[in-house]
Amino acid sequence: MKMSKPVVIKLMDRPIKIYLADLAHTHSVKDAALGVPLGIGYIKAYADSQHGADVDISLFKHPEKLLAAVAEASPDIVGLSNYGWNKNLNRAIGGYIQKTCPETLIIAGGPNIDPESDRRLKFLKKHDYIDFMVIDGGEEPFSEMIDWWRDHRGDTSRLPLNIAWQDEDGLHISGERTVKKMIEGIVSPYLSGDLDEFLKAGMFPMLETNRGCPFKCTFCAWGAASKDLVRRFDIDVALAEIDYVGKHSLASSWVLSDANFGILKRDVDIARAIRRQKDERGRPDICQVFVSKNTSDRNIEIAEILGDMTVPLMAVQSMSAEVLKNIRRDNISTEAYVDYQQEFHKLGNRTVADLIVPLPGETLDTHVEAMRVLMDHGVDFLALQNLWLLSGTEINSTKTREEFKFCTRFRLSPGDLGIYRCPDGTELRALEYEESPRNTTTITEKELFFIRRLHFLVEGAWNSDIYKPLLRVGQAFGINPIDVFVRLLEIADRGADSKDENERKVAELFAAFEKRSHGEWFDTAEDIDVFYTDEENFDRLLNEEFEKLYMMFIIIMLRDYKREFDAAILGIMKVFSKVPGDILSEAAEYTFAMFPSLDERKGEQKMTLSAETFRLIEPKRKKVAAKDAGERILRLVEGPKRSKFRAIINESRTKGQTLSRLLRGEGIKMWDLKLSISDCT
Ligand code: SF4
Repeated sequence: MKMSKPVVIKLMDRPIKIYLADLAHTHSVKDAALGVPLGIGYIKAYADSQHGADVDISLFKHPEKLLAAVAEASPDIVGLSNYGWNKNLNRAIGGYIQKTCPETLIIAGGPNIDPESDRRLKFLKKHDYIDFMVIDGGEEPFSEMIDWWRDHRGDTSRLPLNIAWQDEDGLHISGERTVKKMIEGIVSPYLSGDLDEFLKAGMFPMLETNRGCPFKCTFCAWGAASKDLVRRFDIDVALAEIDYVGKHSLASSWVLSDANFGILKRDVDIARAIRRQKDERGRPDICQVFVSKNTSDRNIEIAEILGDMTVPLMAVQSMSAEVLKNIRRDNISTEAYVDYQQEFHKLGNRTVADLIVPLPGETLDTHVEAMRVLMDHGVDFLALQNLWLLSGTEINSTKTREEFKFCTRFRLSPGDLGIYRCPDGTELRALEYEESPRNTTTITEKELFFIRRLHFLVEGAWNSDIYKPLLRVGQAFGINPIDVFVRLLEIADRGADSKDENERKVAELFAAFEKRSHGEWFDTAEDIDVFYTDEENFDRLLNEEFEKLYMMFIIIMLRDYKREFDAAILGIMKVFSKVPGDILSEAAEYTFAMFPSLDERKGEQKMTLSAETFRLIEPKRKKVAAKDAGERILRLVEGPKRSKFRAIINESRTKGQTLSRLLRGEGIKMWDLKLSISDCT
């Protein structure tokens, strides 16, 4: 669409046809793993309230459904939500719509759009199917764009505020509107029934009871549109939505997408309303919440209400004062953090903390120390993320990149890819990638590869529970699990030349891991495009031959190297000379028996543990503490799930299928590979 001069407007004798899409890579992701398209739901509900019968708006999550609708009837306006994980998909689909429906106005929005003019212009040049971008908050500008299209299209001097576009003179912005603290006039897309189709399809509900975030962490774009305000929705609407979703969704998990749940007093009532759904209807099983910082008492009250429905995630990101300053973030105090852990554990909750690497100023030592400290604080699950330079975040700015000398590389975003067929037979391919710093002023790529191996051990040995009981016993005697992992990596580094057969095998696994880990990275986004433009490489990608590294190597470890890892980890624990011998051997026997090698079919086993070892294995869980009376006799047996999955995994070699494909197809979780354990005492 050319913008330079006003076009002659013909009055319409039908509603304006609008398609709004929040596209996902449905080629590789099932509906149950997708969230309902809440953002475009809000935009539709608001536009309907403003334009009534003058508009006919449809919502899409599936690319092929959008393509089919476009083939059936050309839309007047298409709106695409743009995120880091679907921008190339939007480019493929948007480019196709532009070609086949040249009169259609294409508008993009979403949080992952950079504020810097040169980056915005670069984005618009690459995504040249976009006529206009909505900046910061979609409902009002989009609705006003409908008026503009109907009454003034082509006349850019009459565009509403918060619109950006490019022409031969460069980038233009129509001006910014003021953000209000209360969210007024925005209609609930749940209560209007606009999201029913997606709830029915089994997508998980996402609820938003407020918008924005008062904090300004530079790696996050969450608060950008709200200009650091927390903007509230009416509490009665929020409570009515919870009830509506409870009635209409069968999904077992919900996501409460407030950035700081617990920041407002009323969040306690919201938690109670969610709990009521579980008590009265038996679902959801899980409600993911993003716990607010600095409101500890209320967070604990909320955790008490939600109980087993939630695993409190306490975001940390870094524990270095220098890094926190660089990313404009204040964490809660160490004392408050430790109190949190204790309170949550008293409630019987498992706790999660997350770290991102490499943030500006982070070194190998500060990152490893942060992991050690969190382990000492008693976290049950360490979520370790690679820093992704997302558009729309301050960390992605030229200023930050230059200040910390980011040298970046690119890798595929696992699972975010697909091939989508249009009704006219055209096939559209798209894959997403992430850009990350691989060298900064304080960390090198070599150190990041070391960290990747360390994270793999945290994921496999700790988060997946495979060695957790033994490591917990070590913790009770002052051995930090991270120190065990670091020593294991020392074995891996020297193991190829070792006389010890176990060490050589451990080294063999890590050498294979390292090779795959290096192979993930490309120097430029174009290199990724070129590599996967090759038909054979793209087909291999679709067949999931480029697998999720941690999952793949945890399975390989359990299948081919379990005994050697058992021996290496026990050897390291002995070298520390801190755990009394009888406790160490009991804890090791129990831990190694929990996840036997996948080549073994295990019959029923009985095992006796002393009261002391039993208490140390699960020190923080209420139920175990209550039973802590004397010697325990445990029964370990292979359940039908483990039997089935063991057979499938072992067959993968002979059938030539990739582990990722098998695991995804069967929905195998790591815990399914554990023996079932019951107490015979
Ligand atoms: S990371 Fe959390 S606290 Fe920081 S800006 Fe984003 S939402 Fe707010």
